[in-house]
Amino acid sequence: MNKDFISALRLRLQSPQKAVIIPHKNPDGDALGSTLAWMHFLNLEKHEAVVVSPNDYPKFLNWLPGQDQILIHNEEEELVQRKIDEATLIFTLDFNALVRIDKLGELVSMAQADIVMIDHHEAPENFAALMYSDTHMSSTCEMIYHLITALNPNAITPEIASCLYTGIMTDTGSFRYPSTTATTHKAIANLIENGADGTSIHQKIYDSSSFNRLKLLGIALSNLNRIENLPIVFITLSQQELNSCDYQKGDTEGFVNYGLSLEGVKFSTIMIENQKEGKIKMSFRSKGSFSVNEFARTYFQGGGHINAAGGMSTDSMSKTVEQFKNATTEISSKF
Ligand code: 5GP
Ligand code: MN
Repeated sequence: MNKDFISALRLRLQSPQKAVIIPHKNPDGDALGSTLAWMHFLNLEKHEAVVVSPNDYPKFLNWLPGQDQILIHNEEEELVQRKIDEATLIFTLDFNALVRIDKLGELVSMAQADIVMIDHHEAPENFAALMYSDTHMSSTCEMIYHLITALNPNAITPEIASCLYTGIMTDTGSFRYPSTTATTHKAIANLIENGADGTSIHQKIYDSSSFNRLKLLGIALSNLNRIENLPIVFITLSQQELNSCDYQKGDTEGFVNYGLSLEGVKFSTIMIENQKEGKIKMSFRSKGSFSVNEFARTYFQGGGHINAAGGMSTDSMSKTVEQFKNATTEISSKF
């Protein structure tokens, strides 16, 4: 961790602060785990901290300690505006560009408060007064772990430990991805010693599917397609298919990874229609050196990490599939 960052932050935290902490839109385990852990820490250190999410979050995260205090921007706009106006510090966690927080981005860019960014995505934008960016980190939760232990080694409560364990676990695919290091495991060991229950967290996240979610997974797998002569597969889910299984936020989480479980496959994509927003949301995952971050940036207005990224298209599903196939032809020499 950058010494200048930590000393600048330490200095700011010497006086009581009013902090707003923001995860990216459609927050995942890492985004919510890191923001909530940081909220707990700041509150314990006698600051006044609140988490503001751009929109709602999936049911499999609605047990995280402190989640009941989260303000949802698109449901409570006035209250959120007031919190931003009153804030002395705004922390942006687990995202690299203000477009990732939708309309909340305008409020943040106009706010008086200084912005502190903590994130592990590639190519961070330059919108923060203070920045802790490390693209080698497994997760923003691992960064928050290092930050908290640097500021106060005795501050990890069971609540903080559970939040941080969750984000490290989900962003590493349960400690499988190459971003998982010995340091990650040491952090996890310390979190367990401080009250995180790994078995129970795994069950809450991964063994909490509804019947409909598994039916939807069945449809997704039957829609699995292969790109001829390339180690690439993709899945589509139309709005109609989602409706037929009473789709709930978070239900498609993890589906894209099934593509990568095929022997030899190095790049897997899922395209999910969202009729209300008039777009197809895309998730990209890869194994090895093929950068889906670059692919998402080049072809689908997105970004992320080397092996996990997202993007979108405002065209129809059939056109999006066509564009995807054309894009795979252009990058075929990389395999
Ligand atoms: P997911 O496919 O799970 O939505 O996202 C995978 C990774 O890519 C996450 O780290 C997420 O933050 C990032 N990501 C997803 N969608 C976008 C996007 O539209 N733009 C950018 N820059 N990153 C994204
Ligand atoms: Mn993350």
